[in-house]
Amino acid sequence: MIGAPGPIGTPPGMAVSDRKEPAVLRASFPPSRLKRTPTGETQAMAGKSRVSRKVQQFTESVIREMTRLAQQYDAINLAQGFPDFEPPEAVKEAACRAIRDGYNQYSVTWGTPRLRRAIADRYRRVYGLDVDPDRQVVVTCGSTEGMMASMLAVIDPGDEVIVLEPFYENYGPDGILCGATPRYVPLVEPDWRLDLDALRRAFSPKTKALVLNTPNNPTGRVFRREELEAIAELCVEWDVLVLTDEIYEYITYDAPHVPIATLPGMADRTVTVSGASKTYSVTGWRVGWAVAPPDIADGIKKAHDFLTVGAPHPLQEAVAEALDLPETYYRDLAGMYRQKRDRMVAGLRALGFRLTAPEGAYYIMSDIRDVTAMDDVAFARWLVEYGGVAVVPGSSFYANPADGRTKVRFNFCKQDATLEEALRRLQASLPRVPY
Ligand code: GLN
Repeated sequence: MIGAPGPIGTPPGMAVSDRKEPAVLRASFPPSRLKRTPTGETQAMAGKSRVSRKVQQFTESVIREMTRLAQQYDAINLAQGFPDFEPPEAVKEAACRAIRDGYNQYSVTWGTPRLRRAIADRYRRVYGLDVDPDRQVVVTCGSTEGMMASMLAVIDPGDEVIVLEPFYENYGPDGILCGATPRYVPLVEPDWRLDLDALRRAFSPKTKALVLNTPNNPTGRVFRREELEAIAELCVEWDVLVLTDEIYEYITYDAPHVPIATLPGMADRTVTVSGASKTYSVTGWRVGWAVAPPDIADGIKKAHDFLTVGAPHPLQEAVAEALDLPETYYRDLAGMYRQKRDRMVAGLRALGFRLTAPEGAYYIMSDIRDVTAMDDVAFARWLVEYGGVAVVPGSSFYANPADGRTKVRFNFCKQDATLEEALRRLQASLPRVPY
């Protein structure tokens, strides 16, 4: 029912409950990520294939797929994490001005000087980190490219990379594209603690890097200083680099964000990836960055240059201005999201979802077993079509999809009215969940 009218894609006058539901809800949608035959072979190994083995090992992003389905069924998108409200007026103005002022050709490939200076200044001001804007900052097309370019810069095929699980889905394909061998270390439910013994066991002489993400997507964990110190100690012991995705650095509720690069000895073995998307609500601008020791930054610059040449020049200029917003902006941002978190945590719990309240970022990973016997994919598919709310199936965040079958992820980076309507739709539709 593409582009159908009505609040959730139903024809006018037709209630959601009147829709005819398919007999089989356990459809093969979306296909499982990291596709392999039972013997572990990719399809390409069996014969000549027009597409590479690399890309056959993963499917398109389930998060982005859910956004398309949300559009198709006119559902509220609590799947892909982007705000449904506008960025600050001053930031939009800065972008328009930059276009008018002639910042319309390529910038220096690794970032316009003004933005790199603004990034370095902010790391110094907020975290006390000494960052050389010319030798240590690479501006990228979003933190997505920041992480990909960083992995390409440090990882050789066969290198082992430690990933804490569940993990943001991009890290799986990022690792495959680099030829990395992933070592997954599960975070311990229900509050997603780091299991230090399991982490220690994951290190080996082949370990090249550890991927960290704090505040964490999808769990909402904000790793504590002691946990980061334990990670740092192991990384020093085994001579391992840390690739840390800190895109939600200003969205924390219960504990302050600690960049692992600020721990003793870590600045020299850490690549810190972040960006403008979540802090300034400009996910479509695609302006992110990686901050790294000079030798690694040189490698990232090369990977970045040949991947994209550069991030959009006028938007880089605008982000440089955004980085100068007063500190009250960041406090207000976290305060706004804290209220949304509290409302959604209470609302979802009242509906029967079992969850640990996130400490940061804007996602809630929730257990669905008290709500439905469906698996994550069937439930997400049913909910987007018949409940008018899009969520992300939990399996998208696990290497073995079976580990996420009883979970879905909600985001709450939406206007209060949107969240209220989503809760209302959930309340209305859950009693009709087929099993
Ligand atoms: N990080 C966001 C999420 O997890 C979206 C990222 C993206 O789709 N590029 O939903």
